[in-house]
Amino acid sequence: MQIQEPQLQGQDTGMQCEDDRTGIGVETLKRAFLDNLFYVQGKFPALATKHDYYMALAYTVRDRLLQRWVNTAAIYTQEGSRTVAYLSAEFLMGPHLGNNLINLGIYNQVQQAMTELKLDLKELLAKEEEPGLGNGGLGRLAACYLDSLASLEIPTLGYGIRYEFGIFDQLIRNGWQVEKTDKWLRYGNPWEIARPEWAVSVKFGGRTEAHKNAQGRYRVRWIPHKVVLGIPYDTPILGYKVNTANTLRLWKAEAPESFDFEAFNRGNYYGAVDQKVTSENLTKVLYPNDETYEGKQLRLEQQYFFVSCALQDMLRIMLRQKLPLEQFHEKFAVQLNDTHPAIAVAELMRLLLDEHEMDWEPAWEITQKTFGYTNHTLLPEALEKWSLKLFSSLLPRHLEIIYEINWRFLEQVRHKFGTDEGRIGRLSLIDENDGKFVRMAHLACVGSHKINGVAALHSELLQKTTLLDFYEFFPEKFTNITNGVTPRRWIVLSNPKLTNLITSCIGDNWIKHLEDVQRIETYAEDPGFQQEWQQIKRENKVNVAEILLDRTGVKVDPDSLFDIQVKRIHQYKRQHLNILHAITLYNQIKQNPNLDITPRTLIFAGKAAPGYYIAKLIIKLINSVAEVVNKDRDIGDRLKVVFLPDYNVKNSQPIYPAADLSEQISTAGKEASGTGNMKFAMNGALTIGTLDGANIEIRNAVGAENFFLFGLTTEDVGALRLTGYRPREYYEQNPQLKQAIDQIASGYFSHGDRSLFKPLVDLLLDKDPFMLMADYQPYIDCQQQVSQTYRDRDRWLQMSILNTARMGKFSSDRAIREYCQQIWKVQPVPVQLAAEKTGDGWFGTVTSD
Ligand SMILES: *Cc1c(COP(=O)(O)O)cnc(C)c1O
Repeated sequence: MQIQEPQLQGQDTGMQCEDDRTGIGVETLKRAFLDNLFYVQGKFPALATKHDYYMALAYTVRDRLLQRWVNTAAIYTQEGSRTVAYLSAEFLMGPHLGNNLINLGIYNQVQQAMTELKLDLKELLAKEEEPGLGNGGLGRLAACYLDSLASLEIPTLGYGIRYEFGIFDQLIRNGWQVEKTDKWLRYGNPWEIARPEWAVSVKFGGRTEAHKNAQGRYRVRWIPHKVVLGIPYDTPILGYKVNTANTLRLWKAEAPESFDFEAFNRGNYYGAVDQKVTSENLTKVLYPNDETYEGKQLRLEQQYFFVSCALQDMLRIMLRQKLPLEQFHEKFAVQLNDTHPAIAVAELMRLLLDEHEMDWEPAWEITQKTFGYTNHTLLPEALEKWSLKLFSSLLPRHLEIIYEINWRFLEQVRHKFGTDEGRIGRLSLIDENDGKFVRMAHLACVGSHKINGVAALHSELLQKTTLLDFYEFFPEKFTNITNGVTPRRWIVLSNPKLTNLITSCIGDNWIKHLEDVQRIETYAEDPGFQQEWQQIKRENKVNVAEILLDRTGVKVDPDSLFDIQVKRIHQYKRQHLNILHAITLYNQIKQNPNLDITPRTLIFAGKAAPGYYIAKLIIKLINSVAEVVNKDRDIGDRLKVVFLPDYNVKNSQPIYPAADLSEQISTAGKEASGTGNMKFAMNGALTIGTLDGANIEIRNAVGAENFFLFGLTTEDVGALRLTGYRPREYYEQNPQLKQAIDQIASGYFSHGDRSLFKPLVDLLLDKDPFMLMADYQPYIDCQQQVSQTYRDRDRWLQMSILNTARMGKFSSDRAIREYCQQIWKVQPVPVQLAAEKTGDGWFGTVTSD
């Protein structure tokens, strides 16, 4: 067999001086790619699969990353830089390859290199399994923030969990969601490097013992029931067109070899293996709940495990850099992404007190100066609390420390407010209302120097409701930082055509400074520009139409209005309100078959938590309505309803650029911020939305005349609840609404089965906790406005262009600058690439340990 040699032979590339591991010329990239195919994948072209080619390309890109990563680490170590530690139980990174190509600035060279090798870059990009280590918005926010931190050259460590199975893959069978294990590591992960030399031990359970140390001081020893090893796996996070490559450090649990294994288990080999299995279960799977928590022991174990690993790792870094532990808060600014890592407050205290023999007062001062806490939700079902029984059995020493923190804190409360037992009960770290629980949000508030919400409304509501008592006690801790998303992934990578159009008009500075995209406003009414804008939107819609046909078999018209709601399925997000609109449109056409309506394609996607019965029933309802609507000949191309399975970062990237209309219709006061709303508007979709979360700020930015507003306000919702909300009255008084609900109840969409949707119908008519009935008619009227406006092509295009032009504020770069200034007090540390990669330059001479 003839092995295809690199097509370099005999060619003079003029690039021979480029290093194969770092060069970015097309010929160098081709040579490096083939080299990796041979020497890393062990394949030659005749035997290579698409996946082998993907891996060869991934390693080629990784080499270029490592050059920047090693330089970055060297400079951070040399300078002892102040560092952000972002603690998050979730990082929803999305595929790495495309993003790294954009940030390295070599997308075009690599595309050309692949074309010259007769390969299609798009096909190779599609081979990457995304690390789905998050549920939705919260995990994706962490990913956008890592991109911005690196792009702004801020020294950062992201700390989290290396789940072996991420968020499940979603299949749709007979209209129902079916969950499939996400085996994302099956074919290996070229983006991570294990660092077993930096493993740490984490203790669980057992008991504590008080004693006096050599100086006669009171000390506590923790004698654990079990010990688990944490192994760090590092992924480089490159900034956009800078040399900074920060680290995402995810921890995997393993059984320690020692811990009296042999003596304990002599002759009991299977018992020993069992213990290994038990230890490794810790990081086996991501809990698939979004915006609710499950009081499961394993979840608390996961939280404590990664937090302890992270803090021990930070202490190791301080020791290596010969920094005294008294400077911990000067070296590290630690951010708690929601309460999932809030146990860090007690763990840092434990490490300083018990393992480093510090006294309480200095340890507590360091702890409070170290942490910042980001609150993500007001929903009561999402506020984490752990029963004392579980907590004391797993973390006995931490419970003692929490009692001491609480005792001292409540003393201060008494000092400020006197003995107001109601207030003290509400502020206590221990909930004694109905069983006894540790309140993690309270621990986070007391242990942090700053507390922020994630949109203006959310921060305001936090201060007025959920955290009112804390706001009254230390108002100076509270602030707002409205969320943002990275334009690198959500515009440049997802929407290359729009990127080129914008750049051809105003240059490419907007990619780093999204405020600059405002400069396209001057073209908003330019017919040539509008024409190109429309053409790009149409091509993006054709692309999604092909995806829908391929994945669902439904053919949709790219000239219809693409009306899209993609996000986790949740009652508060109200996908079922959207489906009531679909049914209403359907009935209008059925009643008047010649009705001249604006043709629409309603696209849904999103996962439901496996244990969230009503959310799963909503998916079934969407698919049931789709089945009836899509095959009805009276309807034709005027209305289509499609549910795209398996919503994740990879599948979402083509969706946002193809939307005409973005559905952001949560009950006012329930969506903390939302970030999907931002991705849509940046890509020129108009929003139909309520005054909720960041919708309010998006509307202020793009102009009320460029936003479709409807529905109850937060105040309306509260007032209506107080005066007695009677959802059934809306149903009885509104014939269109009544018809839609009656059809669902009568089995019209379920082959005559009246029982199928009964739980949903009963819930809406009797309780309607998210007030769909009250918002139905305003929503339908607003959708009618949307349809009218869409018919005025020039007006719609102008609105679309102005949406993109005015979204500058919603870049995660702006959000991260605010965190840096208001909370973290960190400065950029620019990285220069050293000329030499060996010798005494920046690595120092070769030594061991
Ligand atoms: C942006 C994003 C979300 C968050 O969407 P919301 O509309 O803000 O709820 C969830 N999942 C994925 C995959 C995302 O990319």
